[in-house]
Formats: sequence, C-alpha cells, structure tokens
Amino acid sequence: MPQGDTHVAMSSWIAVAGLCGWKFRLGLVFGVPGSGGLGSLAGLYVHKVLARSGGAIERVWASRGSQSEIATRLDREIEPIRGETLGEWKRDLEDRFELVDFEAQELIAGARLHGMIEGLAQYMVGRSPPDRILTELQITNTTAHQEGRVDAIFEWPDHYSTVDFKTYSDDEPRSHGYDHLQIVSNGMLANYRYGRPELDFTNNELLVVYTGGIYLPRATDRMIEKVVAARSYVLGCLTPDRVQTITQEACYRCERPEACGYYKDVERLHRSGQLPESEEELRRRIWHRRYAVLDFRQISHRNKFIVSLNDLPTLEKFKILETGYSMRARTSDGKAVLLTKKGGSRAFLDGDLIRVIGVEKDKPTLACVSFNGSVVTANNDGIEVTLSEHTASDASRQLTGLPVAVMRTEIDLTRRELQALDYIQRRAPTQIREIAQALLGED
Ligand code: SF4
Repeated sequence: MPQGDTHVAMSSWIAVAGLCGWKFRLGLVFGVPGSGGLGSLAGLYVHKVLARSGGAIERVWASRGSQSEIATRLDREIEPIRGETLGEWKRDLEDRFELVDFEAQELIAGARLHGMIEGLAQYMVGRSPPDRILTELQITNTTAHQEGRVDAIFEWPDHYSTVDFKTYSDDEPRSHGYDHLQIVSNGMLANYRYGRPELDFTNNELLVVYTGGIYLPRATDRMIEKVVAARSYVLGCLTPDRVQTITQEACYRCERPEACGYYKDVERLHRSGQLPESEEELRRRIWHRRYAVLDFRQISHRNKFIVSLNDLPTLEKFKILETGYSMRARTSDGKAVLLTKKGGSRAFLDGDLIRVIGVEKDKPTLACVSFNGSVVTANNDGIEVTLSEHTASDASRQLTGLPVAVMRTEIDLTRRELQALDYIQRRAPTQIREIAQALLGED
C-alpha cells in the first residue's frame, strides 16, 4: 500500500500553470473562485452532449460523404442526445446559480454546438473512420502523478488522435496558449495509455475542435518542456516544503488581477516583515489550514496508487477492486446501469463511489475505458449504479467485449473549503475574520 506522496496534477491545472504559476495557485491553492462567464455555462451543455455522442460520430463517420453531408447527418444523429441532456443541464445550473437566463444560454449553446459539428465534419471528411471512439476518458498515470479527462480518443490500428472539444468559448485556440498546453498534457496521458514513452508523440495526432474549425497543434520540444515544467510546478505547490520557480505570465488576458494583486501584496509584505501583526497571524493560520486541505486532497487519489501498485488478489482482498462483472441490463433511467456478478458484490455497499472499468488488454488499468458513478443498491445479483456523466447506452457501447471491473474511488471536495479560506482572508468583514481566526485555532 502506498505510504508516500499521492498528489496528482490534473492536465487542466498544468495548462493553467504553463501560462502563469500565480494563476494556478490562485485557483487551486488559495481558493479564488473562477469567473464562470456566460459562455462557459453554455459550454458545459455542449461538452455533455459531445461526451455522449461517440456512437453517433462513429455511425456518421462510417457512412462517409461530403463535409456538409457529414455535418447535416451528425446534427440529426445528435438531436436526441441534445434533448436528453437539456433537462439535466438546466437542473445543474438551477442548483448552482440563483438567476440564470436559460433562453440566452440555450441560444449560445445551440450556436456553439452547431459550430462544433462543423469543426468535427471538417476533420472527418477525407479521413478513414477510426476503429473506436472513446469519450470522456479518465487517465491516471500514478508514476508521473498526473491525471486528465481526455474529451475523446479516435483509435485506428496504428495511430490515435487525442481530441479536445473547446466548448468553453468561441475563440480560436492560440498556439502556445491554454488549449495547446492542455492537449499536449492530455496527449502525454494518451501515450501512456498506448504503452509508449509519455513524451513520444510519433503516433499521436493532437486535435482541438472549436466553433467552426479545427486546430492541429504540434507537440514541439518547447511545448513538451513547458508542460513537464508546469507539472513539476503544480506538484511542488501542493506540498509545503518545495520551492517553485515558474514565472510565466499572461496578465493582459487575466480575469483575476485583483485577487492576484491582493495575494502578491500579502506575500511580499510577509517576506519583508511588514505585514501587520494581526494579518500575519491570520495568514499563518490560513496557510496551516490550506496545507491540511491540500494534504486531504491527496487522499482522494490514494486508491488509484493502490491499484497501480498491487496485484488483483491483493486488491480484491482489501475490497479496493472487484472483477467478474458484466453489464447485462439497463434500467429505465438513462444514467443507471445494472452490473451483474455471480454471488453479488463482496466489496461494495449502497452509496459507495466507484469507477467502472472495461479492462483492456495491454493497457494500464487506470488508462482503460472507465466511468465514474455511485452504487444505488447492492444485492446478490450485483450492483445497480448511477453513472455521473455518461449515459447507460454510451457506457454500454464503450464496454462492449471487455471484462468489467469495479474500483472504489473517493471524491475531491476540497475546492469549496479552499474557497471559504479565500473568502475569510481576502473578502470577509473584520468581524467575520476575527471569529474565523478564533475558529481556525492554534497549531
Ligand atoms: S494577473 Fe498576471 S500574474 Fe496575476 S494571475 Fe493573472 S496572469 Fe498571473
């Protein structure tokens, strides 16, 4: 069982850190909330629809045609998925935001999805259909302490494409920008999945589909170097005793200059001994708490390290992972699946969080097709599971022909706690800061 560091750098964090180290720290260490613009809410919907459209893309690609024919057919095939996803997206936004103009959001989302379909058609025309399309593939490389959710992988017998659906805005991706950094980072995870050295991109085409077009960035030595440096920086930031040196900045595009200015000032005054005593004490207590939260965050990854380091009998003995499941039936809910197992589960109970894995030959377990979800009921026939993101039909498509294993997972809920600490330190009225300071206590 792993005793040491189980911190993990997510590809999206690496991409942010590759642009600006401070920006990464503001969001993922200090807890400054994101700006959540109008376009990114619509992007959530477009992302969900595309994540569930692997089967539709496969069918349309196999039937070939001109670019406009492909786009028209794709639009038609995706239509039912749009309907299914709409209600779920609206409920999600209602839970998270007090006032949402759904009409405006739907308009943006519809136009962006249309643009994404145009982009996909541009890539598909003239290329032979791939053997498989995997969507929303979570890949964890515990050796490199890196994880990412790749939007899609198009798989041919001798090569593959690492695909990013740029749904959060309509801007064209920029060379050496966020999207370029993220896809190189995800491409490294894809290389790991296919048993190649993570920095060898020989058989890996990188593709960013954006509104109305495609971008085929290259994994140049310079970009790879940047991504590897940003990954070390991210991992360094998550532990209190490591020094970080990355200094890239892109302030002219930054949406967080105020928070950045505030924390830069506090840290500068602290280093020069000029921070007032009461502020110094609050800063000390908050940092103490922040590192406790970051330490707790690594616990959510511990089972992944256990799975990477141990054999199957050990994992089954400690009830971390169970094999022998098959996906035999779907319940009426679009996201519920029945996983049957002779004799039922010995490891899982109602409410457990799990990752359903389609065990692929010659692939690392945590790079195989997988779906996150939770156990609704466990009985002598197996488990009924609600999937978090995928629909049952798409999970079924991607699991076809694969032995199914189920692994215990944990959820990372630390972002909210970090955001509360940011509020206390940066924005709360004096009275609340004083109460919070007392509650944060001594070491
Ligand atoms: S304002 Fe500049 S230095 Fe600060 S987080 Fe934004 S990009 Fe980085």
